[in-house]
Amino acid sequence: MTELSVRTNRREELVDITEQVQRFVAQSGVKEGVCWLFVPHTTAGITVNENADPSVKVDILEQLHRLIPPDLRYHHTEGNADAHIKAVLVGNSLSVPIVNGRLRLGTWQGIFLCEFDGPRTRRVWVQITPSISETAG
Ligand code: ZN
Repeated sequence: MTELSVRTNRREELVDITEQVQRFVAQSGVKEGVCWLFVPHTTAGITVNENADPSVKVDILEQLHRLIPPDLRYHHTEGNADAHIKAVLVGNSLSVPIVNGRLRLGTWQGIFLCEFDGPRTRRVWVQITPSISETAG
């Protein structure tokens, strides 16, 4: 397993980490398999979505903010109750296929760390499982 470190700069932000993950996949030498990603935080998450038009990120953050505003009356009084709920909605793990030594993502897809209580330095745990055909050799 490896740990990626991701610096965020705002309270709410989607950070494209596709290239960072792609580099780790390339260094692993695995040609076919699965790349597992896990975010060990409760106010950040991870997702796959469009990385071509940057306004998609803005829309996602604006609408999550509208659905779950930070200034409602919450039971959790640390001031980040909204961030916990947003993290639940996007989820904290992903699995992405590896084909020909690269992440097999859709044309418009990228991997995003979803920050909801930044700025902070976040961790992403990454592990690669080779396919059975690759390990059988
Ligand atoms: Zn909290």
